[in-house]
Amino acid sequence: MSIVPEPQTGWYDEAMTQDGTQDGKEQTDGRGTGRLAGTVALVTGASSGIGEATATSLAAEGATVALVARRKDRLDSLAARIGAAGGRTLVVEADVTDPAQAADAVERTVRELGRLDTLVNNAGVMLLGPVVDAPFEEWERMIAINLTGLLACSHAALPHLLAAAEDSPRQVADVVNISSVAGRQARNGSGVYNLTKHGVGAFSESLRQEVTQRHVRVSLVEPGAVATELGGHNRPEIQEQMRARFADMERLAASDIAETIEFIVTRPRHVAINEVLIRPTEQVA
Ligand code: NDP
Repeated sequence: MSIVPEPQTGWYDEAMTQDGTQDGKEQTDGRGTGRLAGTVALVTGASSGIGEATATSLAAEGATVALVARRKDRLDSLAARIGAAGGRTLVVEADVTDPAQAADAVERTVRELGRLDTLVNNAGVMLLGPVVDAPFEEWERMIAINLTGLLACSHAALPHLLAAAEDSPRQVADVVNISSVAGRQARNGSGVYNLTKHGVGAFSESLRQEVTQRHVRVSLVEPGAVATELGGHNRPEIQEQMRARFADMERLAASDIAETIEFIVTRPRHVAINEVLIRPTEQVA
């Protein structure tokens, strides 16, 4: 199965636009071996970056993937590329900050695709800058997407994941929560992003302890700098600081994180990868 990669916008790029600047790296090598055949995955934030690459990887492994985000045109285009490579998807336009839309996205996936084996809680936003005089609305957005969205999708999905772990041939299901290095290490200038990602880590570990003996694995992935659109939502002065910080660093590609997620969800039933911290080699902290 070969997948044609869609150009990605690097948030370190000079322009920092969202119109698809090529980051020069392949999203997948298309080596899918069908290890997820017969399973259904739901990926939030599938319209760009890590979510798009992850949906592509999981589909290449044979999963049918529900693509969830707000930008339907981007989801449609991804669905067409995955379909052209022989994969199956369901496009679900939804704003996960609204718990009703998050629940609908999960229910529609189960209704139309028959089951749910894998939830990748990836949708997120990173709005940096000092706490003092920060626009309060930025904090509300981060809490709504990074926390409320992840909680709403998890809440709706867990009964289906528990059922899949019980009934499916694989007898295992997965929740993969995308945190960040920022979920392990607080920095001056990223206080509320740190808060949300530390929260994702705490929730993930608690949930892991609750459901792991029922064979729902909960995994936390903590990337360092990845070339995506993520930074492009920041105020111009913050983008300038980010450019300066990462100017000389070779960042991860979204496909690097997608490969990690693919590895996690294709482990045998008795193996649970609880946590992965993955930085660009040149990233010190
Ligand atoms: P992108 O900005 O490329 O992707 C973010 C995705 O989230 C988009 O698909 C966007 O889709 C979706 N999203 C945002 N708001 C909503 C919403 N309300 N409802 C549904 N979907 C939403 O960034 P990344 O791929 O980099 O980010 C993915 C995750 O990785 C985030 O959780 C981020 O915190 C984390 N991360 C990223 C790092 C990086 O350096 N890039 C480092 C560490 C962690 P749409 O706008 O169409 O709704």
